[in-house]
Amino acid sequence: MSEKILVVLPHPDDEAFGLSGTLAKFIDEGAQVTYACLTLGEMGRGLGNPLIADRISLPHYRKQELIQACNAIGFDDVRMLGFLDKTVEFEPKEYIDSVIREIYNDVQPTLVLTFFPGFSVHPDHDATGASVIRVLEDIPASERPPVWCIAFAHDMYDMNGEPDITVDVSSYLKQKKEAIAAHATQFQISEMFGNGDTESPEVKSKFGKEHFWTYHFNK
Ligand SMILES: [Zn+2]
Repeated sequence: MSEKILVVLPHPDDEAFGLSGTLAKFIDEGAQVTYACLTLGEMGRGLGNPLIADRISLPHYRKQELIQACNAIGFDDVRMLGFLDKTVEFEPKEYIDSVIREIYNDVQPTLVLTFFPGFSVHPDHDATGASVIRVLEDIPASERPPVWCIAFAHDMYDMNGEPDITVDVSSYLKQKKEAIAAHATQFQISEMFGNGDTESPEVKSKFGKEHFWTYHFNK
């Protein structure tokens, strides 16, 4: 049985760095991917360099960039949930949970990918991960799919140990690079990938592995 993966992240570009190689690899192996992206990153600092967008047009550009990034990874089921950037933590929990629960019920995933709540640096990241965990907590353990979390906090390793899952994505760096490059208002791809050769040892060692922590539920 091939995987049905549900990705839940708050910002266009969260997927590109943390898990685009993993998604490309799973898709190559037959997985279906649905990406629920809570906001359009409309408060994003970047407007492109050289300038592409202004504050008013940024959400429009970021929407297109998100679609382009997903296509580069190899899927097109991206659901934009319409929350506002930098405000996810202030949304009523019941509301955000109900939105995520609806998508969960629709997709019936065999694997869920999100941020590790409390260890993902940005309040939107933590609030998104926390909502996913609340929704999954309500599902009987025997029916609950595994949840793999990405995390950026410096104390993540001290508090939760080494990531238990490492995915070798070195054969999928073309997709990863294209996914990052799609977010042209936010990133200068040339600064990250040097000469752009995804086969180079430097690029492979910098981008070739993606790490996840399996979330352990209390019940
Ligand atoms: Zn983010």
